Amino acid sequence: MKISFLGAAGTVTGSRYLLEHAGRRLLVDCGLFQGYKNLRLMNWEAPPFDPHKVDAVVLTHAHLDHSGALPRLVKQGFHGPIHATAATQELCEIMLPDSARLQEEEAGYHNRHGSSRHKPALPLYDEADARRALERFSTLRLGKPLEVVPGVEVRLHAAGHILGAASVELRCEGRTIVFSGDLGRPDDLVMLPPEPLPDCDEVVLESTYGDREHEPLDGGRPLAEVIRRTVARGGTVLLPAFAVGRAQSLLYLLMRLRSSGTIPEVPVYVNSPMAIDMTDIYLRHRTEHRLTADDCAAMHRLARMVRSAEESRALNANREPAVIISASGMATGGRVLHHLKSLAPDARNAIVFAGYQAGGTRGARLVAGERRIRIFGEDVAVNAEVVSLRGLSAHADSDQLLGWLKGGPRAPRRVYLTHGEPGPADQLRQRVTAELGCEALVPRLGQVVEFSGSGTVS
Ligand SMILES: [Zn+2]
Repeated sequence: MKISFLGAAGTVTGSRYLLEHAGRRLLVDCGLFQGYKNLRLMNWEAPPFDPHKVDAVVLTHAHLDHSGALPRLVKQGFHGPIHATAATQELCEIMLPDSARLQEEEAGYHNRHGSSRHKPALPLYDEADARRALERFSTLRLGKPLEVVPGVEVRLHAAGHILGAASVELRCEGRTIVFSGDLGRPDDLVMLPPEPLPDCDEVVLESTYGDREHEPLDGGRPLAEVIRRTVARGGTVLLPAFAVGRAQSLLYLLMRLRSSGTIPEVPVYVNSPMAIDMTDIYLRHRTEHRLTADDCAAMHRLARMVRSAEESRALNANREPAVIISASGMATGGRVLHHLKSLAPDARNAIVFAGYQAGGTRGARLVAGERRIRIFGEDVAVNAEVVSLRGLSAHADSDQLLGWLKGGPRAPRRVYLTHGEPGPADQLRQRVTAELGCEALVPRLGQVVEFSGSGTVS
């Protein structure tokens, strides 16, 4: 058996691992690279395997850096099943066609402006490719063992993080390897804690926050404070948020702050049709998270859901203080850009980031303090207050990652640290070695690890 680390190695996006065993091939995740241009260009590279000859995919969760390259894989000839939880499948039914539309819009923009060296500029994939990928999905229940290819059995375990997210336990040739996927935190507002690490030999562990501990959530006090001072100066608070996961956590927190009278009675808008649809999916999967029926109803009462483009434009013209949740979370696209363009120049407003900002995105540049950003080809002055809230992450922090590793029935023999920038991945590597006494390493992109027999690894 061998495993190739084909993404999320030395970076947080592009999750993709190839397992080969007895002439069969299995992918765990197939995500998009995001952020810096050199990373995004990697989405165009031919994969180092023949997509026709991949037998199956196991998907950990719906975020595009894990699922977003599936339509391209199908376009390139993959025709096997994509195994995922029911909730992941439902989320992907919205996210993958939306991702395709964004790719098509981007190609269209380049063709209108002659701004690509490719004539014509083409999308990475289109909506028909996304639909074909969705036809390949097959529901796999948490905890149910399935022989996905001969000699390889997988079992999914709840990972917290977002609705439907799972870790993958994979048994092959007498050894067990666990891919953590993105791991949630035990104290998440919305999601239940990750299931404990199963008995295993090796772990492929995410390390997004491998070098830090989250600030305490503190009942949402930092968010309440920024809303109070912004509204007091007549401004609007813009919350760029991933449509899935983050938007629902923010809405829940705002609902609690409003019911306790901690934030003023200004309108709260969710301006993202996708986030609205996602919220409905959360409501349908009520046993998989902490929200009660009453919480869900109160969230719906609190927020004004903005669906149409006309309503979105009207909201953008509105100068009354408000709180606006809009996607995308790293301000790389979506309706949030229109809000940013109109709200950033006014010092009364606040732009509040509550999630991970990948290097190279507008979100990362704003958080770093840049006072001018380019939006739709124009330079926009940033005079608004920019705040980065660190207590709301959907990822486990370094103590929590280590806590999860230590929570298994025995220490794994080896831990591979992926899905992190080099600094956090390396710091976590050192802690894993020191605190668990097992071998830990940070694989290079493209690195292949061969397992022979039950012990040796090369
Ligand atoms: Zn994720």
